[in-house]
Amino acid sequence: MKITNVETYLLDVPLKQKAITDSQTRLESVEFVAVRIDTNEGISGWGFNWNYTKGSRAIQTIIDDTYAPALKGEDPLLHKSLMKKLHYTNHFIGQVGITRVALCAVNFALWDIRLKVANMPLWRYLGPAKEKVKAYNTDGGWLHTTTDELVRDMNALVERGFDAVKMKLGLPDPREDYERVKQVRQSIPKEVKLMVDVNTVWDLKTAMVWGRKLEEFDIYWLEEPMNPFNKTDHAKLAQALDVPIAVGETIYTKYDFREYIEAGAVDIIQADATKLSGIDEWLDVAALARCHDLEVIPHTNVQQKLHVQLAAASSNVPMVECCYESIMDIWEDPIQVVNGYYTLPEEPGLGCKLKDSVLKDCRIG
Ligand SMILES: [Mg+2]
Repeated sequence: MKITNVETYLLDVPLKQKAITDSQTRLESVEFVAVRIDTNEGISGWGFNWNYTKGSRAIQTIIDDTYAPALKGEDPLLHKSLMKKLHYTNHFIGQVGITRVALCAVNFALWDIRLKVANMPLWRYLGPAKEKVKAYNTDGGWLHTTTDELVRDMNALVERGFDAVKMKLGLPDPREDYERVKQVRQSIPKEVKLMVDVNTVWDLKTAMVWGRKLEEFDIYWLEEPMNPFNKTDHAKLAQALDVPIAVGETIYTKYDFREYIEAGAVDIIQADATKLSGIDEWLDVAALARCHDLEVIPHTNVQQKLHVQLAAASSNVPMVECCYESIMDIWEDPIQVVNGYYTLPEEPGLGCKLKDSVLKDCRIG
């Protein structure tokens, strides 16, 4: 089998709900770079990556100018050696960030070809560890809502069958965060897990003071409290607080995860295959976490179907994030959540192709 063509699509997909916010971002649409890799045997693989700020044209350019020429004529089923070749293609212009996010989209397309040849979905190909995957929901906890709206939205998720929910923190005054958590905790059943997410905006002192205060509300984890590059401060925080510290959605290499783990700076590994260089590196991180008896609970926003399959094939992934449900129908065969559990896909391939109508109507490059 040989690769004959690589086609990229730059897309801007609007949300169907009003703009949503966390402590870093106000979000009205999601950018995608979709990649299609064609072969001489009529099988095409689809990959993607996403971004909720602008700038994905740079990702498309990396694929078009550096990865696509290196892929043509190669055997896509030798994808591990291809990944190594592509990685070194961009050795001097950055081995993380945009080059890696672009490499990840290619990795997904190569896996899609492999899985279509094998005639299996990803989770069955890797070997199932479980037959259903629990979901926790983030869609009720955005920062732009009033406290009354927040309480209403979080309770609506519990009524839908979710027994684990997450809310955003990181308002300019942490006392407001504290009050919102208090109101939510008092309004949802005590057996419902409540997680909080700062999206990296606290410094160590703020995290020490307010992380400790929030422990009275039985917080299941404190997510991304500080700048992810500062492992030392995360280690100090993790050692000082009882609440588990979760990081991973802005960590781009397995080597960084190793350093976090070895420093005792993380309790919950939120590895995201779309931030690492794809499925292979995510599996490496899950194995690394198993070596330290740590759980992986992947970060997602639009990429649930991918991570649900990785969770189904992993013994140390108890649940997967669910959010952005209002745009799930951009995918062909979108994944469903019923009574707090994801339904696993059965179609061969990775199952992460955007609908033709989305590829046509939302294309900007
Ligand atoms: Mg987060």
